[in-house]
Amino acid sequence: MIKIDHLVKNYGATCAVDDISLEIKKGEIVGFLGPNGAGKSTTMNILTGYLSSTAGRVMIDGINVLDDPLAVKSRIGYLPEQPPLYLDMTVEEYLIFVYNLKGCTMNRTKHLEEICEVVKLTDVYKRLIRNLSKGFRQRVGIAQALIGNPPVVIFDEPTVGLDPKQIIEIRNLIRTLGRDHTVILSTHILQEVQAVCDRIVIINKGKIVADELTENINRIAANSFRYQATICGPQKEVLAMLRARADVTYAEVLSARDGDAYIYHIESTKGVDIRKSLFFALSAKGWALIGLEMLGMSLEDIFISVVDKTDEAATGKKTVKGKRTRGQSPERDLAQSILDATAEKQKSIAPYEGEE
Ligand code: ADP
Ligand code: MG
Repeated sequence: MIKIDHLVKNYGATCAVDDISLEIKKGEIVGFLGPNGAGKSTTMNILTGYLSSTAGRVMIDGINVLDDPLAVKSRIGYLPEQPPLYLDMTVEEYLIFVYNLKGCTMNRTKHLEEICEVVKLTDVYKRLIRNLSKGFRQRVGIAQALIGNPPVVIFDEPTVGLDPKQIIEIRNLIRTLGRDHTVILSTHILQEVQAVCDRIVIINKGKIVADELTENINRIAANSFRYQATICGPQKEVLAMLRARADVTYAEVLSARDGDAYIYHIESTKGVDIRKSLFFALSAKGWALIGLEMLGMSLEDIFISVVDKTDEAATGKKTVKGKRTRGQSPERDLAQSILDATAEKQKSIAPYEGEE
């Protein structure tokens, strides 16, 4: 449905988008995740034909954005970072205005009614936009994007500035839209992509640094190598014993508890569940295991390490993140595998030349 081909955008000396290639299939909900200034809005603005690119090509539904911008625009509903609202219009007036602007031909009343039903605007339909809360204004922005029933919808940071309840509602709404639209949304909030998107594309400094299905990232993240154990026993000896185990790659004391109990942070070799053997080993020594919890890897860790790794590659410098006794951290291994998979995918997208 969408094909981005070696896209580059320079603003003077600033390279905002640096050779991005990406294919998005019909019906996918894709999240562009990245810190502020990563190039998300710029990429979206080029997709929608709002900005021109410095180099590269964007195809929407088989049409080059530059060849036929109107045809492309008619296939895209766009919610920019700042929704383009006229505060002195009522919701109804504004939506009719957009309807006319887009040159829609379907039954107007019915179409607008349906949209207001979906985005839950019916109650404020006759109200001035100026008097609406931020959450409702955002819905008006989404409603205007849906007018004309475009197959592709693009939302730039759709939940910024909303309260937690509104955020949940908007996320649910986007999920619903995903049933019969191709959706791209941008966000700098990790939980947002996790909650809403089928696929996560991490953008940092104008480059795609990771591109994975959300379920894959979740699965890898849930595949834990990390444990938090509370053990009663002599702290130094316990730690030495943990570190001496062949299946433990990292062990450290986190904090003391009452009496001789200490909390330890342990990481095991990939794919090895150390819980049972750890229990027996400790009890053989006469040390009591009074708490043991498997810690899932947070997406935050993955995100940070993916971004760190690419920064490392760019600067040639290692980012030092805490002392490690042995082995690499699991999230850095994971970051590497995501980076590798992404590099493969980027390679497999055919270059501009030699096509057609
Ligand atoms: P994001 O949406 O991920 O926060 P943007 O696409 O807005 O990132 O910005 C990417 C980079 O391009 C930033 O470094 C930003 O400062 C720069 N930039 C964005 N728009 C302009 C512009 N009109 N002129 C110059 N630089 C810009
Ligand atoms: Mg932005």
